[in-house]
Amino acid sequence: MDKIKIHALRCGQVRTTKYLPFNPDNKALMTVAGFLVPQKDWAWSPVYCYYIEHLNGKVLIDTAWSRRMSPDGVEDKKAEIRELGFMLYTLNQGYTPKGEAIDEQLDALGVKTSELDYVVLTHLDCDHACGLHQVADAKRIIVSEDEMKYANTRTPKNIMRYKKRWWKDVPISQFAFNGHEGPFYESFDLFGDGSIQLIHIPGHCAGLVCVKITGKDGKFVLLTSDGAYSHKNWIDLVLPGIHADRKKQLESLEWIREMSMNSNCVESLLTHDPNVKPHIVELDV
Ligand SMILES: [Zn+2]
Repeated sequence: MDKIKIHALRCGQVRTTKYLPFNPDNKALMTVAGFLVPQKDWAWSPVYCYYIEHLNGKVLIDTAWSRRMSPDGVEDKKAEIRELGFMLYTLNQGYTPKGEAIDEQLDALGVKTSELDYVVLTHLDCDHACGLHQVADAKRIIVSEDEMKYANTRTPKNIMRYKKRWWKDVPISQFAFNGHEGPFYESFDLFGDGSIQLIHIPGHCAGLVCVKITGKDGKFVLLTSDGAYSHKNWIDLVLPGIHADRKKQLESLEWIREMSMNSNCVESLLTHDPNVKPHIVELDV
C-alpha cells in the first residue's frame, strides 16, 4: 500500500441548540444547553468517525453513539435517557440509522473491530465515546491523561457531561504528551515516525486532541474533532458554546485556522460539520 486512506464515516446525528456550534456572544451554559430555547433554534448535525488505513496499522478516531441509544435506528427517547441520563439528554439528543453505528460501518468496509491497532478517543464526550463498547476488542484504546483526569473531576458540570459507565468495562490506556506540536506545544506521536500526531487542543474540554496525518512531501489532513464545528468557526474565529476554558479554546481555534489555511493541508475535517459528506481522502506515502 502506497497510500494512507482516511475514511470519513457518518455515524448518526446529534441535535443541539444553534448556540452549541456558534456562540460568539458567550451566552450562558443554560442557553447553550437549551433552557428556554425555542424549537426553531435547534438543529441536527452529523456525527463523524474517521478510519485510517495506514502502513503501520489500522486506526479508528472516535466511536460516536452507542447502538443502545437507538436500537431500531430511529429516535428513541427512553433509550437515549437511559444511555445519557436525563440532563445530558436535554442538552443533546442523538440517534444512529441502521448501518451507521461504528462497528456496522467498519463491517461494511470488511474491517473487524478486533483488527483495529488503535482506537483513539479525541475526548470523552458522549457523541465520541459512548459507542466505545462496540469496538472494545480493538488491540489498543487510548485517550490523553489530561482528558481522563478532567472527566474524573466530578464537578456538577462534569457529572452531567461524562458517564464513567461508557468506558468502565473497556481497557483504555492513557497517554502523556511527549512531543511539542500544536498551540500548547504538546503532542503524542502515535507510530513514532511523525505520520500520525495527536495534538493537544484544549478548550472544549481539558484533554481534547486533534489528529494530524502526514504523508509524502509534508501534505497533511487535520481531524479537528470538536475544536470547531464547521469551517465558519475558524474562518471567522467564532467560538463554539461548550468549553472548559474559553481562552484556551480560542488559542486552539487560532491554531486550527493557521493549520487549515496552510498550503500543505489537504483537508481540515471536523466531527459535526453538516458540509462534510462520507468520503475517502488519500495521502501519498
Ligand atoms: Zn462532539
